Amino acid sequence: MQIVLASSNRGKIKEIKKYFGNDVIAFSDLITPFEIEENGKSFKENAIIKAKAIYEKLPEFIIIADDSGISVPILGNIPGIYSARFAGSDASDKDNLNKLINELKKRNISKTPAFYTSAIAIASPYGIYTTHGFMYGEVIDEARGNRGFGYDPMFIPKGYDKTLGELDEEVKKSISHRTRALNLAKYILDVIK
Ligand code: IMP
Repeated sequence: MQIVLASSNRGKIKEIKKYFGNDVIAFSDLITPFEIEENGKSFKENAIIKAKAIYEKLPEFIIIADDSGISVPILGNIPGIYSARFAGSDASDKDNLNKLINELKKRNISKTPAFYTSAIAIASPYGIYTTHGFMYGEVIDEARGNRGFGYDPMFIPKGYDKTLGELDEEVKKSISHRTRALNLAKYILDVIK
């Protein structure tokens, strides 16, 4: 059965397509995108909300949704599930990145531990499944490099001395929260597809 991706985020679509090769298509290639209210209280709840909303429109497909974000423990784990709308509901990736940099600068923090979370929800004729993946590292109070998307230019993964904005995309693919959640999702997809 064909896998359809429940996301309009270009960065995510690129990474997930790269992961699955041509086996996955974006839902916007099949139906007109529509607003989905992400009112869950966790990455998992929001991933399920997105996967279910698209599955209701496309029940002949397996739908996968990713809900993800970055958390900074010293700041009470913000922006967390609000990563996409940290600087406001219409904020761009750049606005959100600059806001997080400013939050660090305001407190004179030049570097502090942070982590990315990805929750993947699979909606299928057999039911709903979820997996999680994490990537640990540190955020810094400046943007370096322009690879990746979102908060990548301020995030240095554990074991590296460069940001994800500077590192090769293959490096991110090999260690990312999304890859780790997708690796687990693949076990499920392989048996239900
Ligand atoms: P969602 O589309 O509601 O799941 O929001 C995801 C948001 O989290 C993105 O807009 C980014 O701000 C952030 N995010 C998630 N994954 C990544 C990543 O791999 N790199 C950078 N930012 C990310």
